[in-house]
Amino acid sequence: MIRFDNSYARLPQGFFARIAPTPVAAPQLQALNRPLARQLGLDPDWLAGPDGVAMLAGNAIPDGAEPIAQAYAGHQFGGFVPQLGDGRAVLLGEVMAPDGSRHDIQLKGSGPTPFSRRGDGRAWLGPVLREYAVSEFMAAMGVPTTRALAAVTTGETVWREDGLPGAVLTRVAASHIRVGTFQYFAVRGQAEALAALTDHVIARHYPQADGPLALLDQVVARQAETIARWMALGFIHGVMNTDNMAISGETIDYGPCAFMDAYHPDTVFSSIDRMGRYAWAQQPQIAVWNLAQLATCLIPLMGADRDAAIAAATTSVHAFAPTYQAAWLRRFGDKLGLKDSPAIQPLAEALLGLMAEQGADFTRVFAGLGDGRARAEFADPAPFDDWMRDWQAHQPDPALMAEANPRRIPRNHRIEEAIAAAVAGQMEPFRRLFDAVTHPREDRPDWDDLALAPRPEQRVRQTFC
Ligand code: AMP
Ligand code: MG
Ligand code: MG
Repeated sequence: MIRFDNSYARLPQGFFARIAPTPVAAPQLQALNRPLARQLGLDPDWLAGPDGVAMLAGNAIPDGAEPIAQAYAGHQFGGFVPQLGDGRAVLLGEVMAPDGSRHDIQLKGSGPTPFSRRGDGRAWLGPVLREYAVSEFMAAMGVPTTRALAAVTTGETVWREDGLPGAVLTRVAASHIRVGTFQYFAVRGQAEALAALTDHVIARHYPQADGPLALLDQVVARQAETIARWMALGFIHGVMNTDNMAISGETIDYGPCAFMDAYHPDTVFSSIDRMGRYAWAQQPQIAVWNLAQLATCLIPLMGADRDAAIAAATTSVHAFAPTYQAAWLRRFGDKLGLKDSPAIQPLAEALLGLMAEQGADFTRVFAGLGDGRARAEFADPAPFDDWMRDWQAHQPDPALMAEANPRRIPRNHRIEEAIAAAVAGQMEPFRRLFDAVTHPREDRPDWDDLALAPRPEQRVRQTFC
């Protein structure tokens, strides 16, 4: 028996469509996150058995679930789309974990919904495995994120450019409420629905907030922390549309996301991001842009004095900059083994500057600072040697660095390799990569190959949703 309590499904009509997942031909469990299952109070052995797999594939609805597709809108690459919604996902329900926390259990790739537009409602194995590995790596590094509970293949073919194996990801989140959820009601002028959503979000995620302005303050603060953590890992989300920004502050919607190998601030991987709107260095200002859209939605709820509300909301969004800056200094300070030092910013900026000039590998440089291996990442080590002397004079703390700097990340070329093997029926490369990136700090010589930067012919230049 799973302990469901479906608070979102109790919200008024118009927030969602009631829709069951579409059953699939031949579900097969490919990955199960047993520690996460236990944390949620779910029995991993049951999940791995026939009844569990039927649920994870969308072939059976467990008692207490109330499957819905959520409505939302969103700015996609800056252009507003008044209706998006879960076009290929179904929220089964909210599970209450033994520690009292509430978690959405969502099936992604579960078939068409009223929000599917022209899409098929399905996902193929590649993006499902990418999200599974990347989101769990992020969790291992302490980044607020949705989690991956399971990946199931469907035994059906999904048509993209080619026929590919279909799959369903079970995603776990504090909630799937997005900036775009607020936009959905705001653009329709549905003040009551907007107020109900705001009350729901405050009760669920920000119980200390005493109204829409305090809610905005807290979402801004959480997003600033999350984005600073992305930056410190060289993570590029790839589709920071407002429908892909969670109100909880969790990283959500791992589509064409990627980690940088060689450092450059303008790095973009997503094939659909032609203008570099969502390049690595753009992410903080895009977050502000998205939060300004949330602020715009909330202003009508901030009292009768509209000018005062606009001024207060503007101040709230502007607080992103100092909060982000402080978070960035903490994150890069940890990476350099320094705490509360005025040297963090100049040292970090100087190092990043050298890395950009020489195309040094982001992860390997930081992971190799403590043991001297970073030097080998620079074709011309002389300027790095100078930097190193300055840095060492500040007596960096190796424990801070070991915690902050992963030895291994889910590198694009390794993910692509693991996906190609999985499509050919070989799951072992994926399992090995998954183990290695979900223990990112462990020094394991047998995983050293997974810590290598891609050779030129291995480099992945583009990622696809
Ligand atoms: P995304 O780019 O993944 O954030 O998705 C944007 C919108 O397109 C969301 O409303 C998705 O539900 C919808 N969508 C993406 N892929 C599909 C698909 N294969 N079938 C139906 N809807 C989809
Ligand atoms: Mg999305
Ligand atoms: Mg997506």
